[in-house]
Formats: sequence, structure tokens, C-alpha cells
Amino acid sequence: MSCIFCKIINKQESSEILYENDKFIVIKDINPKASVHLLIIPKKHIASIKEIEQQDKELMGQLILTGKKIAESKNLKGYKLIINVGREGGQIIDHLHLHLLAQQICP
Ligand code: AMP
Ligand code: ZN
Repeated sequence: MSCIFCKIINKQESSEILYENDKFIVIKDINPKASVHLLIIPKKHIASIKEIEQQDKELMGQLILTGKKIAESKNLKGYKLIINVGREGGQIIDHLHLHLLAQQICP
């Protein structure tokens, strides 16, 4: 398995894990583009949005809800949830993931 995110999920590669359950892992982006830059990664290997099917409907809903839950746990007032699709869409890692980006405001 050459997928870096599958390796992170399987603990074959190190990463800063913020949250994990049976379906998702949430890690800090290694090259943050904002003061908060997290990646919500489904444990199921789906290469991109181009590959999702009807059967992934629930997982996709849970992905957004997990992003919301993490944002709330960090008391973020506003944030961006982004999915890059395909090289032309800025996707570098071919394992579906949701970016959570925000400027952290001091509590
Ligand atoms: P994308 O361009 O949507 O495919 O986003 C991939 C993201 O993964 C980029 O923001 C990278 O900085 C990040 N990234 C790549 N390798 C790692 C890693 N080993 N641990 C954490 N984040 C990573
Ligand atoms: Zn993978």
C-alpha cells in the first residue's frame, strides 16, 4: 500500500492525530496554510470525489459532520471546509480528505 494517508491510518507513518474513531482520522496538516489546518480523512480508501458512489452517501455526510464537530470543539467562529478534486483542482494526495482551515482567534 503506497498511499500516505492509508499508512497514517494504519500507524505505519507518524502524524499528529487530533481525533480518531472507527471511520475517520483527523490530523494536523504537515504544511499548514492557516493557523488551524486540519485534515479529516475517511479510513476507507477512496481516491477522490470523482470515485464516490451512492453507497458513500452516509460516509460523506459523516465527513462534513466530523468537520463541524472538530470546528466546534476548537471554538472556531468561522472556518472553511474544502475538498480539492483532481490535480487540476489542487489535489495532491489521492485519498479523499476534507481540509478544515481557520484563523484561530485568541480565547
Ligand atoms: P490536497 O492538495 O487536497 O491533496 O491536500 C493534501 C494535503 O496533505 C496538503 O495540504 C499537504 O500539506 C498534506 N500532507 C501531505 N503529507 C502529509 C503528511 N504526511 N501528514 C500531514 N499532512 C500531509
Ligand atoms: Zn489511502
